[in-house]
Amino acid sequence: MGEKRASLLATELGIRTVADLLHHYPYRYLDRTKVYRIGEITEENAASFVQLRGRIIGKAYLGEGRKQRLSATLADSTGQIELIWFQRTSWAEKQIEVGREYLVSGKPSFFGPRANMVHPELETVEKFLSRGNNGMQGVYRTTERLTAVGLTSKGLYSLQCTLWQQIREHIAETLPQYVIERFDLLSRREALENIHFPSSPQLLSRAIYRLKFEELFGVQLGILSVKAGRTTHKNGFFFPRVGELFDDFYHNHIPFPLTGAQKRVLKEIRADLTSGHQMNRLLQGDVGSGKTLVALMTMLLAADNGYQSCMMAPTEILARQHYASVARMLQGTAAEGRVAVLTGSTKTRERRDILARTLSGEVLILIGTHALIEDRVQFENLGMVVIDEQHRFGVEQRAKLWTKNSQPPHILVMTATPIPRTLAMTLYGDLDVSVIDEMPAGRKPIKTYHLKEALRLRLHGFMKSEIAKGRQIYVVYPLIKESEALDYQNLYDGFDHIIQAFPLPEYKVGAIHGKMAPEDKAEAMKLFAEGVNNILVATSVIEVGVDVPNASVIVIESAERFGLSQLHQLRGRVGRGSEQSYCILMSGDNLSRDAEARLSAMVETNDGFQLSELDLKLRGAGDVNGTRQSGEALELQIASLSTDGQILEHARVIASHILERDPELSKPENRLLLALKQRYKAPNSIDYGMIS
Ligand code: ADP
Ligand code: MG
Repeated sequence: MGEKRASLLATELGIRTVADLLHHYPYRYLDRTKVYRIGEITEENAASFVQLRGRIIGKAYLGEGRKQRLSATLADSTGQIELIWFQRTSWAEKQIEVGREYLVSGKPSFFGPRANMVHPELETVEKFLSRGNNGMQGVYRTTERLTAVGLTSKGLYSLQCTLWQQIREHIAETLPQYVIERFDLLSRREALENIHFPSSPQLLSRAIYRLKFEELFGVQLGILSVKAGRTTHKNGFFFPRVGELFDDFYHNHIPFPLTGAQKRVLKEIRADLTSGHQMNRLLQGDVGSGKTLVALMTMLLAADNGYQSCMMAPTEILARQHYASVARMLQGTAAEGRVAVLTGSTKTRERRDILARTLSGEVLILIGTHALIEDRVQFENLGMVVIDEQHRFGVEQRAKLWTKNSQPPHILVMTATPIPRTLAMTLYGDLDVSVIDEMPAGRKPIKTYHLKEALRLRLHGFMKSEIAKGRQIYVVYPLIKESEALDYQNLYDGFDHIIQAFPLPEYKVGAIHGKMAPEDKAEAMKLFAEGVNNILVATSVIEVGVDVPNASVIVIESAERFGLSQLHQLRGRVGRGSEQSYCILMSGDNLSRDAEARLSAMVETNDGFQLSELDLKLRGAGDVNGTRQSGEALELQIASLSTDGQILEHARVIASHILERDPELSKPENRLLLALKQRYKAPNSIDYGMIS
């Protein structure tokens, strides 16, 4: 191929090598056996791809200058259709000969009574017949600039044909023969041949299966060998004692009984800590289900056995909040005063002091942001790491904490985000999972309402009556990277609006957002947590984990702009005390159908897992909780974490059987698997698209 086309292929589609081209799979297949008659095209079926067979009876340039287009008329015995090309028409012009018969495919549309087709694919009937095609032809993703140099979908198809002739004898197998036979998979060569040039629909689906399986199998081998490495070595700290700190705290310092779920999870954790293996446990539970308390008790177990703990939170605010509540809960216990907080904004002198007390072992629990990962943070004897709201930390960041002691500390990862199973199996596939599926008793379910602008005055009245009862209120504005400037403007306007509607001295209103200095944020949070301010106007900063039990109302502005899981997270900021709590979703008047569905789901249910399932449905094969980013980070070419759950489960079971017998994949028959495993590395870090 010439240099110009080659370099366009690289810049437009990232195709640089033969392998890249080979892995550029069709995204759908044309059924070349099905030919429509032009007269059959109606406005109803116009949206889908069709293939037509007819003769070109005329062509002409229409319009002037930049609006110029090439128009050709295709006719069969039932009617006529106009074929249109805008811009860069020279290659199309060359292909189209008046009087010849063509097979044409594309999406028809209607302007008035006449059907037309923009940028169709076409091929002479002669050429089609000479190729002896079985009927299914791959359609390849391309771009406008590639199309302009003749690399249309069909151009790419021809390229694949040429390539395949040259390399088909050189396709190396990537799976061991015994796996292929046992699970009746196509060979790699058969799979590649059939994904590009399917000889039947059955073989096409087996080809897709084989290629998806290979990817997901590689991912699982990688993740499960991390886990196998952990469980084959007896390298976990042994915590046999339930000592005084734990007992005293449990019996004398918790003002409520633990829920059944909390007790069960603590037992699971205890079992890990006495197994001799390193614990790597994911603790899932809805917001407010009491995960932090479980974490604290786990850290007290560590302390009872002579080990320090650290607790890592994704934001400065959260870290300080955790510190405040842990320090408060430990008042009057032997651990009082042996907790510290370290973040990026800790002043040099204080930092030096904390680092020294951590190294000497005086600090039992060190709480902080990812500043804790830094090398200068050294412990006397770190035995337990708790990671809160971990979706911001990746596998590698976690692994870095392992090096802070001679043996890896135990790890407890907490999340309130219900994670689809497929994602959990890939991102956290090396973790064991505990679930808190029970809320503390006495919680009143949060009442959720959806209001439109016209009712804003009523909303203010309601807010005032809640404040009169002594309650506090969050007002939250969306903040999205793409529209950050405008979002900030809305936030400032909203704040002005609120202080006018809720004037001093009767009402005190605070604000918190990402552009504020850390001290100011901490101060704003403190004024609200201490009950000084009645209202806190905020961005999604308050999304994760902030705990102010007296806040019983959350107003979410432009609620239609938030995703379901974000809305649910935000709602979890209230309903933490014994008062009736409310979540008010404010939206514009005209909502898309999806936005309407999200908001009414919020009104109907408080169940996070139910909402995450609905989220999956609404977004379809799209992106749920980072499944797409994770897939990309894993460099999956064909498998999808949101739709290939079954293949993933299958791959996981097989991978774990193999690793049980050969944990290092060192047996000769598993030589290929070692290479496969190394190709798929766990993603580093997933950003959930929230900013704070
Ligand atoms: P999470 O971290 O899961 O969001 P927290 O641990 O912050 O939840 O708990 C939320 C609130 O519920 C806290 O104020 C906590 O003191 C309280 N809480 C925790 N466990 C219980 C329980 N078993 N009974 C009553 N209240 C509880
Ligand atoms: Mg929490």
